[in-house]
Amino acid sequence: MLADVLARVNPAAQISLIAYHDTEAVPHQVTPKANVNVLWAPRMRCYGHPLMDDGCRLNQPKYTQTVRDQVGYFKSAGAAPMRVFEYYLDAVLFKSVMPPLPTVMQRDTQFYRQAGVHTLQALMTGDYPWTTPQLNVWLFPRLCWNPDADVDALDVLLSLQNYRLAFWRMARRRRHQAFIETYAFAPHLRGRVRQVWPHLGDAALNDVERGLRQFFRISLAARGRMVAMPSKVVDELWHALILDTARYQHFCRHAFGRLLHHTPAAAMRPQDRGAEPLRRAWRMACADEGLDPRHAAALPLLFELDTVLAIPGGFRYQPDCTRAKDGTWCGNALGCGSTGCGGSHDGGDSSKVIA
Ligand SMILES: [Zn+2]
Repeated sequence: MLADVLARVNPAAQISLIAYHDTEAVPHQVTPKANVNVLWAPRMRCYGHPLMDDGCRLNQPKYTQTVRDQVGYFKSAGAAPMRVFEYYLDAVLFKSVMPPLPTVMQRDTQFYRQAGVHTLQALMTGDYPWTTPQLNVWLFPRLCWNPDADVDALDVLLSLQNYRLAFWRMARRRRHQAFIETYAFAPHLRGRVRQVWPHLGDAALNDVERGLRQFFRISLAARGRMVAMPSKVVDELWHALILDTARYQHFCRHAFGRLLHHTPAAAMRPQDRGAEPLRRAWRMACADEGLDPRHAAALPLLFELDTVLAIPGGFRYQPDCTRAKDGTWCGNALGCGSTGCGGSHDGGDSSKVIA
């Protein structure tokens, strides 16, 4: 009925009947009209093998035979030629990990063409922005254009493209690093910190600025993964910068290429899911100063400032568990994985501090 209406409204238009899951096979009870095509979507096929691969019991002979049957059935009914809807680019099917399928795609396109398929389409989905060019996306239109293209040569071209991308990323990262290192904090920002802790002199506030610079440096190195703010006094300076909205947006654009959202230091309690961002901060701050995160000889700047500057209610850390006292959070426990390193200092008493 739909096909009849469509034929009256637009005689040139076609309507697709999707053949999918339980409708993959040739229909028996309906005969397609001239303006109907079958859109065959082999969602349940195997992508580890080309359709034609005799070694694949899922694809062979069922799927190749179905394609031939569908092509023949729609042709004999005088209907529009068959179309195929593939899943080579489907991040949902492949759980966001797109396996390169050059051989499967090549042998499939060769088979589809030889079997008389009129059009080959592919569903493309993704829940993350792609960080590198996807081989399948690159190859699919080229193979549709020429199923006999040399996929190895295409692969080489793609590698070259990846190198260019890698160089571009490296250059961008250096620009961001240089911006952070040379950024001049506006003088009124340290004024806000001094309002909270009037005992801080100029030398102390210089250290707070150095601490924030270290935090920004490791946030850049974390490439989008969350980094906890381990210092109350540095957090105050960060917060002052954030409140200066236009300045902060300008800073973030040049330092990260995106907005770095505020994660209040107080939210990072070790028993929470926030523990991993804090561990990350520890590992990366240690790396920033060339310290071993499991046996740090000293505290990295970000972790020592609250203590050194005598910040009331500040966060106290010790570099090593074995020397930890009550009311301190020990660095070598932060250096362990999310399940901790065992031992009595791994949660318990330290949670009193980072609260
Ligand atoms: Zn297979």
